[in-house]
Amino acid sequence: MSRTTTLRSFAAHIDGQSVSAQSGRTYRSIDPFTGEPWAEVPDCDATDVDLAVTAARRALQGEWARYTATRRGKLLHRLGELIARDAAELAELETRDNGKLLREMVGQMAVLPEWFTYFGGLADKVGGSVVPTDKPNFLVYTRSEPVGVVAAITPWNSPLLLLSWKIAPALAAGCTIVVKPSDHTPASTLALARLIDEAGFPPGVVNVITGWGPETGQALTSHPGVDRIAFTGSTEVGRIIARTAADRLTRTSLELGGKSAHIVFPDADIDSVVNGIVGGVFAATGQTCMAGSRVLVHEDVAEAITEKLVERTSRIKLGDPMLPDTEMGPVANQRQFDTVTKHFEYAVEDGATIAYGGRVDPELGGLFVQPTILTDATLEMRAVSQEIFGPVVAITTFSDEADAIEMANGTEFGLAGAVWTNDIRRGHRVAAAIRAGTVWINAYRVVAPQVPFGGFGLSGWGRENGAAAILDYTESKSVWVEL
Ligand code: NAD
Repeated sequence: MSRTTTLRSFAAHIDGQSVSAQSGRTYRSIDPFTGEPWAEVPDCDATDVDLAVTAARRALQGEWARYTATRRGKLLHRLGELIARDAAELAELETRDNGKLLREMVGQMAVLPEWFTYFGGLADKVGGSVVPTDKPNFLVYTRSEPVGVVAAITPWNSPLLLLSWKIAPALAAGCTIVVKPSDHTPASTLALARLIDEAGFPPGVVNVITGWGPETGQALTSHPGVDRIAFTGSTEVGRIIARTAADRLTRTSLELGGKSAHIVFPDADIDSVVNGIVGGVFAATGQTCMAGSRVLVHEDVAEAITEKLVERTSRIKLGDPMLPDTEMGPVANQRQFDTVTKHFEYAVEDGATIAYGGRVDPELGGLFVQPTILTDATLEMRAVSQEIFGPVVAITTFSDEADAIEMANGTEFGLAGAVWTNDIRRGHRVAAAIRAGTVWINAYRVVAPQVPFGGFGLSGWGRENGAAAILDYTESKSVWVEL
């Protein structure tokens, strides 16, 4: 696969300056479609992390501390406008880095400003209150203060969207931030740093460092100058971060993996179900935390749903993610490719039937795998119990509602799920019974800044989005005044 490539260079961003790593080292980001390096970025280490955290600490105590909440809110609005202005460029950088469809990334950039508008609007709504007590000689009130320096660590699948979920509430609350994007997708976050400057944030309020491998993230999460960690990524790394955070009891939120289930009842509209499943698991080549990778379908409609799903899936057009008619691009990197293809083998070894796909794409090769449908799937199979983070969906049948709920909850993850039914009472009843942070009824994969998102169990700690998210970046202080 080829595309004319001139290597683009990006700088890290510390204390309002574009900088190289102190060591002078760089690494190259690979375009998953061409398999060629396309960008060169700083390979920051603990020295750079220290500079970034020190700059963020200084900014926390500098002029930023004197900004009113209204002024912070206005800057967030301005940043949203600049992102909207440069949406096409930011989208292209993400597609070059992670191979997701350009039109999907353009769509994501178009909604990104909503997060800055929403949290910018909330900035001046967070306040303390006077607390009534039974001590008449005291006036007691609470203050909300910024939690301090935030370390924001993001994965490669939706770098700027998932970063916005962190920096918009954190900046609204008055925090300062050091961001470390995934080593596979550094470009869009480094480009955002330029817009943060242009919006007028004081130097050091947002710093961006990049680095290959786990070391940069480790140096950041273990740095004593960090007051709050906001992490999105795998459950495996989430556990490491929770252990690191335990040493200094650093406040931490973790948005982790999932193995979400659709529950399909016989009265559901079959076409909507098939659209929901396809959009939920094959979009972004299955590389979304909320991928609906398990389909639990009532035995009466299992055959009809499977047949339609196979037919629809067989028409998915794989190809260059930059082209407008491509429906599925490559997986994002070699590690991810190895995981997905390993699961094709596991599925067969564990006794599932491959109803569609199950191979590397014979025409495109490279990092292209086929969208894959497994049937005769049971909960113990590895492809059904483990997060694959690829375009693989497993179909299991059920005969009654209680079974379906038990199967949906038969996972240690708890990020999302869906109920497909036209019976309104059943929809709400089953939604209440599913142990997951988000349940859609007759829909899938819709998110909004106003709505909390996060997981139960191995899917993480805390919720992003929603009005309460801003409070997660504050400390409450009670002040007692003797009268
Ligand atoms: P990952 O856990 O490998 O990496 C995530 C980030 O952590 C990257 O920036 C990485 O460089 C950094 N990192 C790696 N090791 C580290 C360490 N020891 N200390 C500190 N930082 C470290 O995840 P990924 O492969 O980039 O992304 C895929 C995973 O993210 C999937 O499991 C997916 O479900 C999850 N995800 C969750 C959500 C959500 O909102 N719940 C959203 C998107 C992705």
